[in-house]
Amino acid sequence: MYKVELNSFLLEELEGFMQSIGEKKYRANQLFAYLHRNQGTTIEDISVFSIGLRDKLKKTSKINNIEVFKRFDSKFDSTKKYLFLLEDNNIIEGVLMEYHHGLTACISTQVGCRMGCSFCASTKEGLIRNLSPAEMLNQIYTMEKDLNSNISNIVLMGSGEPLDNYDNTLKFLNIIHHEKGHNISYRNITLSTCGVVPNIYKLADEKLPITLSISLHSPYDEDRKKIMPVGYRYTIDDIIKACKYYFDKTNRRITMEYTLIEGINDRRKDLNELIKILKDINCHVNIIPLNPIKEFDQGRPTKANIRRFEEGLSKANIPVSIRREMGGDISASCGQLRRKYKNDEGGKTFR
Ligand code: SAH
Repeated sequence: MYKVELNSFLLEELEGFMQSIGEKKYRANQLFAYLHRNQGTTIEDISVFSIGLRDKLKKTSKINNIEVFKRFDSKFDSTKKYLFLLEDNNIIEGVLMEYHHGLTACISTQVGCRMGCSFCASTKEGLIRNLSPAEMLNQIYTMEKDLNSNISNIVLMGSGEPLDNYDNTLKFLNIIHHEKGHNISYRNITLSTCGVVPNIYKLADEKLPITLSISLHSPYDEDRKKIMPVGYRYTIDDIIKACKYYFDKTNRRITMEYTLIEGINDRRKDLNELIKILKDINCHVNIIPLNPIKEFDQGRPTKANIRRFEEGLSKANIPVSIRREMGGDISASCGQLRRKYKNDEGGKTFR
């Protein structure tokens, strides 16, 4: 029998659900706190509820759980890569990074991805399915429990395209931010998208002060299409207009991610055109030197070209930073997370 996932419900939905089974609304508050403040995992353990109510809940609902399948600790830095086992035996990846301002979790939003960016490992087997809000939350909760510490920042930059799983991602944001739950500030959350333009507008209208990060990767539509098929659907101009709208609605500076790939987008003319298209938008450019994956054999940019991009943007008064490679030895860097299935262990997709 189908059971609803209690830890995927917004508080208001939980209220409606409790009333639908003949319970008082305030029970939802208690349940929400159990799930998201205490990060509880079984209906059996909800001690504020009578045995009768727990039994009633068990008949129609369940709590989603994920477990740590494997953890890889980088020898270079404190980065940890987690393989999480989902209830249907799919395995997703999440990464925990330590910065001076605290712990940042990079989490997945889908099993696989259908966006097809040529340089990214997460999309190589296509999209398997969307993650539920609970499965996104559980990545955070599980890392916290594993390390007995508190995560203060979240980036939606693991496997998947968050704006291709819009409703669940939005619920996740609401719940993780909720004052009766984990209460993480929206300002400490970054959502990265390859540019699903209509959903950038939708997100902007939510007026959440989260940071929007755009995977731009080229200032030319023709070149962008070659590495990012989503470019056939939405032009760079469409993206820039959507970013301006996002800024108007949220007052949050946009991040432009620029994965630098030798010979493809690291030429002098790319830099000049990039400056041109970004000059009247309030943004910050984050340069990501290409991380190697086996399916994409283009070169990493030279140090000189990385520096040239950084200086060029800086001189044009466009704020710029270079993303540090974290956990390179455990394939935990941008674009290196890939889909796995439990029974694949030892097989072709498991490393
Ligand atoms: N689907 C989201 C999240 C992707 S991961 C998006 O497209 O934005 C976060 C960033 O890593 C994106 O900017 C993505 O384009 C970049 N990336 C993917 N593969 C990479 C690689 N091999 N090297 C460097 N950056 C990569």
